[in-house]
Amino acid sequence: MQDWIEVFHSDNTLVAQLKARLLEQHGLTPILRNENLAALVGMGGIGLPCRVFVPSIQAEKASKILLRSQGPTLVASIEAPEYCPHCNAPWEVGFALCWKCEQEPY
Ligand SMILES: [Zn+2]
Repeated sequence: MQDWIEVFHSDNTLVAQLKARLLEQHGLTPILRNENLAALVGMGGIGLPCRVFVPSIQAEKASKILLRSQGPTLVASIEAPEYCPHCNAPWEVGFALCWKCEQEPY
């Protein structure tokens, strides 16, 4: 019998599904569990607590992958200036290009 380890849980089923998808992309075999799985079918299951399990031998790899997936997204992690160095327009945080002159900040 295989041991399953919980590596992630969320109040939002969609988030849990995305994490499980991420683990699958890394070659792991996660499963989603919810106490009322049968009741979710046909309801979308969004917004309900959900847990992600992996086989115990994959737990260490899974936790590393999930740890890396946390934190700011790629776009948000770009260091943005306060003003565009090219046209001096106020910089819209979260954008990689100036909204006005469409140039990169550096
Ligand atoms: Zn600009």
